[in-house]
Amino acid sequence: MSAFRDDILASRVALVTGGATGLGKEIARAFGQHGARVCIASRKQENLEAACHELQSEGLDCMWVACDIREPEQVEHVVAEVMDRHGRLDIVVNNAAGNFPAPITGLSYNGFKTIVDIDLRGTYNVTKAAFEAYLKEHGGHVVNISAPFQNLGVSMQAHVAAAKAGVDSLTRTCAVEFGPYGIRVNAIAPGAMADTEGVARFADTAKKMAGGGTNPLGYVGAKRDIANAALFLASDAASYVTGQVFAVDGGAGIDMMKMRLPHE
Ligand code: NAP
Repeated sequence: MSAFRDDILASRVALVTGGATGLGKEIARAFGQHGARVCIASRKQENLEAACHELQSEGLDCMWVACDIREPEQVEHVVAEVMDRHGRLDIVVNNAAGNFPAPITGLSYNGFKTIVDIDLRGTYNVTKAAFEAYLKEHGGHVVNISAPFQNLGVSMQAHVAAAKAGVDSLTRTCAVEFGPYGIRVNAIAPGAMADTEGVARFADTAKKMAGGGTNPLGYVGAKRDIANAALFLASDAASYVTGQVFAVDGGAGIDMMKMRLPHE
């Protein structure tokens, strides 16, 4: 049972990059369940087909287009396909990203570049293409999926932290430049979500963080928590909210001492 009215995104069309897996698929599902027609886009066709089939079998309106968000022509193709099919594109969720743990000493020049290319340049490419094709004439919403650690130093994540810091910056600048066009731009910084491949790929620290007890709420976040935040930001409920990066992490990021009082 959703906390939101089930037609909160009725008549809207949404593009979710990286929507075939993990958080992106749950965001696509949540949007579809609340009335949106959804397009998911990423590189692996077999994942896109499977995810789209899964969402359609749940009664949701879903299409897919394969693309590498590092390539502006491919991104423009995705946006053109959405426009051809639906004639509009109201919501963009920049969720696609790469990640692998590596210390700076073990990170190749190309490894660093690849992550910045996907996470930061990819976010720019998709936002720019959607702006030119639809948003600048009609307004809409952009939701960027960021990360929780770029304001701190974090081992093994120099490449991702730098890229996501860029995403946060882009979020604020886009909000300032696009506000006059009726476009809101916000970001979500998810904590470690235990039910994602992204965290499963990680070393023990992230798994422990995702294991709960390391945030004030004391329980593990799930994909749906991020999807609910995206739903709020993409809906008219957030009509006066723009340029913000929202931590959705059970309070982990603001908990400096990480001390827990025993429960009564
Ligand atoms: P995931 O399952 O690995 O999803 C990443 C998606 O991005 C995949 O569907 C992948 O599909 C797509 N992708 C990667 N490179 C691409 C490219 N060049 N072009 C197009 N698509 C590309 O990861 P996730 O854990 O759900 O994470 C989703 C988002 O949340 C990411 O932005 C991540 O940084 C952020 N996040 C996640 C967590 C967490 O707990 N999981 C925590 C903090 C932040 P293909 O490989 O088929 O292209």
